[in-house]
Amino acid sequence: MPSPRTRETALQPGVSPARAKSRAWGRLAELRGPGVPARALDARALAALAANPGCGRRAILDGAGVDKAALAEALGAPAVFGQSQFAFMRGNAFEARVKADGGAELLRLAHTRLDPGAEPPRESRVPDLSAVGPEGRTARTALALREATRAGAWTLLDHPMLALEVAGSPAYLEPDAVVVHPDGSWTVVEIKSFPMLDGSADPAKVGAAARQSAVYVLALEDVAARLDPVPRVRHRVLLVCPKDFSNLPTASAVDVRKQRAVTARQLTRLTRVEDIADALPEGVCFSPELPSEELTAAVEAVPATYAPECLATCELAFHCRARSRAQGAVTALGRSARADLGGLSTVEDVLAAAHGEAGDPDDPAVAALRRAAALRAEALEQAGREAACR
Ligand code: SF4
Repeated sequence: MPSPRTRETALQPGVSPARAKSRAWGRLAELRGPGVPARALDARALAALAANPGCGRRAILDGAGVDKAALAEALGAPAVFGQSQFAFMRGNAFEARVKADGGAELLRLAHTRLDPGAEPPRESRVPDLSAVGPEGRTARTALALREATRAGAWTLLDHPMLALEVAGSPAYLEPDAVVVHPDGSWTVVEIKSFPMLDGSADPAKVGAAARQSAVYVLALEDVAARLDPVPRVRHRVLLVCPKDFSNLPTASAVDVRKQRAVTARQLTRLTRVEDIADALPEGVCFSPELPSEELTAAVEAVPATYAPECLATCELAFHCRARSRAQGAVTALGRSARADLGGLSTVEDVLAAAHGEAGDPDDPAVAALRRAAALRAEALEQAGREAACR
């Protein structure tokens, strides 16, 4: 499969990549609205984007750096998920504790959980990663990774910056930490404030952390691929959480091979942001300053694929759910129901098929619906007879 960059050149013959890029950036800035700064994509958003790759609406809004929470508010359907201020502060305090003393405890956990055969970390090497802007920080991180790999010593990179090209645009990602092992391999570290009780944590939260970490692993692999020899990016990440109900850190190794493979496949399937932008009518803008009718029309101009899972991952979920219900779309019933219903895309179509008013009787979905409708009618008839006898 060609890389996104190769496709970019191929899609725009006669236009230099730099010119095409600056034109694309201009178009995305127009979509955000005059003077509205771009909101950076993070790994959590990318993991959610990869979980619903068919949604052009989310792809264009994230790709253009639109603040979806502000947009949802302006549309009159504000999101209700996200971290409370208290949880945010507690998370920051725990992370600071984990990384205290030059990350000595963090390196000790990496040694015991992931690399017990290596010599234990005796001193903490924590390179300075400060630089101007995301591009500068990304370059500084790549340099620090190269130096640490050559040094062959335990090294902690605190909040490195990585870049990953997504749907033709760069996304800058900031993992909690990356550890370089003495053998030159690299591990992503994810620090969470949910507790690990008796060595295990809430599977849903661990799953979300694994999907997020998988995005960092992909970005790290991009950095590794530019080095010679290519360092190994470990596919077991280190998840650090508070032990039981204390504030003491504990950790476990989480295998993210599956999440990495799924995310990589989904990200390559994402429609290129510029292609979606080019298909939009002229003048479409998602600035939260606009009147809600204008914003609604702008949002509706981009096709979406709503699923109930959106409620936990996308700020626009209430808006998309309301539209999906208003249109009678079967997507609102969930992915498995949608898959079972085959080509029947609205509740109206489903009812017509079940009542024998429409649909091909040889279609397995139509046949199953008619069988279910007949069984229901039979059950209701029997219940009616039983009620009459009482
Ligand atoms: S809530 Fe809407 S925009 Fe967000 S992923 Fe779902 S369908 Fe797409």
